[in-house]
Amino acid sequence: MKVIIDQNSGFCFGVNHAIKMAEAELAAGETVFCLGEMVHNQVQMDQLVAKGLKVISMAELPSLKGKKVLFRAHGEPPETFQLAKELDISIIDATCPIVTKLQQRINNSYFSGKDSELQIVIFGKAKHAEVAGLNGNAGNTAIIVSDENDLGKIDITKPVHLFSQTTMDAETYQAIATALQKRMTEAGNTDLVISKSACGQVSGRAPALRSFASEHDVIVFVGGRNSANGAYLFSVCKSINEKSYYIHNIEDIDDQWFNGSISVGVTGATSTPGWLIAQVAEQIERM
Ligand code: SF4
Repeated sequence: MKVIIDQNSGFCFGVNHAIKMAEAELAAGETVFCLGEMVHNQVQMDQLVAKGLKVISMAELPSLKGKKVLFRAHGEPPETFQLAKELDISIIDATCPIVTKLQQRINNSYFSGKDSELQIVIFGKAKHAEVAGLNGNAGNTAIIVSDENDLGKIDITKPVHLFSQTTMDAETYQAIATALQKRMTEAGNTDLVISKSACGQVSGRAPALRSFASEHDVIVFVGGRNSANGAYLFSVCKSINEKSYYIHNIEDIDDQWFNGSISVGVTGATSTPGWLIAQVAEQIERM
């Protein structure tokens, strides 16, 4: 039986960048507090915590006066930066540069349309940390839509600037944008700007995964319990290959899955470390 690792799997650039920043601080013997879970992968989090990383909630921030706090790849709203400044907290800003750029674009759009009736619309998950950071850059006035049913929240007679949370599925974003454009056009309003803001590191994975999932008898997908991106990418595998299994770590592997198989593909979410995917592949080979 062949076990093949998906060459496109492993951390995305933004998560890699944030983990490297945290590890550099921890290696220097610093106590690093991280605002929220740094990566949606418990195995990787356990490793960082073992090295001294302490995960804190927003409610704990005021108790960290003068300490070092890392802001993770998802980014934070301007209010959090302001609060940290007032508390004399030294910020390690590990916001993914792609997210920072999107925050700036939303901020520019918000200020340029402030005196008009412009509506900033974000396609994303209302409770996701990245969306809180994006919305903060629109003065917390953005309309958050997660599917076509939410389009009713938008006043289709007024101007709209549409953005997407970076990790949302690009195909669904396109469908939402098309549906909104149709509604606005029917209402005689063409004042719609659609920004391309889904991250290429995620949107490029879906088509590549479809082909990877079709090339193997069994797919083992490694992802965290809270990873929205993992859930989405796994559904892409499952839609192509019925024998796709989602696991969190090595203990979840069941050797019955591989009966009669010639080829097994191992892949994961953008928040799954490459070393964990390699460990899973080695374990399957041993079976
Ligand atoms: S998915 Fe893209 S935008 Fe999000 S952290 Fe990774 S590289 Fe950055």
